[in-house]
Amino acid sequence: MTQKVFWQDPYLTQIETSITSADGDHITVERTIFYAFSGGQESDTGMIGGQPVYEARKDGQQIVYTLQPNHALKVGDQVMMYIDWERRYKLMRLHFAAELVLELVYQALGTITKIGAHIAEDKSRIDFAWEENIATLFPVILEKAHSLIHANHPIVSAFSDEANERRYWEIAGFAKVPCGGTHLKITGEVGEITLKRKNVGKGKERIEIYIGLSLTSPPGPLSNTWRGGEKRILKSPLHAMGRGFRGGVNA
Ligand SMILES: [Zn+2]
Repeated sequence: MTQKVFWQDPYLTQIETSITSADGDHITVERTIFYAFSGGQESDTGMIGGQPVYEARKDGQQIVYTLQPNHALKVGDQVMMYIDWERRYKLMRLHFAAELVLELVYQALGTITKIGAHIAEDKSRIDFAWEENIATLFPVILEKAHSLIHANHPIVSAFSDEANERRYWEIAGFAKVPCGGTHLKITGEVGEITLKRKNVGKGKERIEIYIGLSLTSPPGPLSNTWRGGEKRILKSPLHAMGRGFRGGVNA
């Protein structure tokens, strides 16, 4: 099993780990901060042991990373792993914006069925089986979402079933929702959201979600080096390597 440090601390941008298997261009590591596509949230991008990662995918409770074929890493090697934090933080913010919108849609319509969701770097989207124009809900959803966002509620993320890696997020007094993605610590990090409706076929409605700048910096050690907006000290894995192996921003 790959130890998934992105759940313990979704704000870590680099970590030391070791190679636990190497089979051609596929490797596994002892512990990871590098999220693999799951639950609609796209994979991270980044590097392991100086090698760019081409693909990250879940295989049971393992995560398998694809590197270039001549990577030369072998079992037992101690390596540094980096993720592109700018991308990950956008994914986390768009993911939680989608969580708020989805929960508010459920609370408003009760019986509506979600038929798909995807979180990319520029927008997230949720698809519903619904016969009516979903945009009629937008004023109410936006008002409630922004009220939650401006209130800076703490977001708790934890296991409901650790052996089977089932997790949830919770905002006290609002909702408790099963999800294995990486979640923000406070609602203010989401920032202002904008919604767009797309009719994607008969009886199907899509909500597209866009975000502006964060209203607040993340709490905790990361905020010591936070510069606001999307900027941070570790702009990209390559940039980080140019600086040498500094301690992580959370170290
Ligand atoms: Zn989630």
